[in-house]
Amino acid sequence: MKLVIGSHVSFTSSKQLLGSLNEALSYNANTFMLYTGSTQSTKRGVIDEKITLKAHELMKENEIDPKNVIVHAPYIINFANRSDEEKYNFYINFFTEELNRCNALGLDKIVLHPGSATTCTKEEGIKNIAYALNKVFKNTPYTNVLLEFMAGKGNEIGSSIDELKAIIDLIEDKTRIYVCLDTCHMNDAGIDLNYFDEFLNEFDKKIGINKIKCIHINDSKNVVGAHKDRHDNIGYGTISFDTLLNIIYNERIDCPRILETPYINRGEKDATSPYKQEIEMIRNKKFIDFIQ
Ligand code: FE
Ligand code: FE
Ligand code: ZN
Repeated sequence: MKLVIGSHVSFTSSKQLLGSLNEALSYNANTFMLYTGSTQSTKRGVIDEKITLKAHELMKENEIDPKNVIVHAPYIINFANRSDEEKYNFYINFFTEELNRCNALGLDKIVLHPGSATTCTKEEGIKNIAYALNKVFKNTPYTNVLLEFMAGKGNEIGSSIDELKAIIDLIEDKTRIYVCLDTCHMNDAGIDLNYFDEFLNEFDKKIGINKIKCIHINDSKNVVGAHKDRHDNIGYGTISFDTLLNIIYNERIDCPRILETPYINRGEKDATSPYKQEIEMIRNKKFIDFIQ
């Protein structure tokens, strides 16, 4: 198995996919993940065809397979609640457009946080999510959706294999629905990642291991089962570098590994990306204490 490793990178309206790719290359990554705009808003620009073509040429030169490049939907989409029908439909339309944007970018995978059931039960939330996705799939020809394994913060849906399975079971076109694991989320949801293979056994039995199309690699600031969702740099959190390495190099899952660890000095003027060092540490299988 070839290691496919990258990180979350920025996507600007001027440089678009080419800017994202160049950032990834500067980290010596062979894949990357992007948001097509702000993570917190649904404001989106037009995808420039020329830039996209150029980016795909450069990907080819650098042996980056576009099938390994991941898009992430903005956090504010929430298909779980349906008490406000107007909002629910807005999210459906926005996500439909988002899938069309993926298609315009020549990328075929988008990660989605399933949703948070704040005005209904989780059971109803699961039905609402599946209904929305079925509608989106009917109106878009391509693009696969990867449901992210969540930390179980508040009323978040998708923090167990069974909840993800419950959504997938209700999806009409099963060829377009997949799962994205997230090591921080799994830890916070209550899974001891020292027993990752046992988790995979259960996942394989209930959903199928081939449904895992991406893994977010993050350490966690909190203990197992904290239901918090605060990412840490690899080797600095409670999961540990060695446990994360075992997951990264696990031969049973053949899919991209994407870092979403926090910037060093985040929010300050000298904030810097940790991804180049973290990718190097992962490739060398050796932890280096690079954060003062
Ligand atoms: Fe996410
Ligand atoms: Fe994630
Ligand atoms: Zn998270």
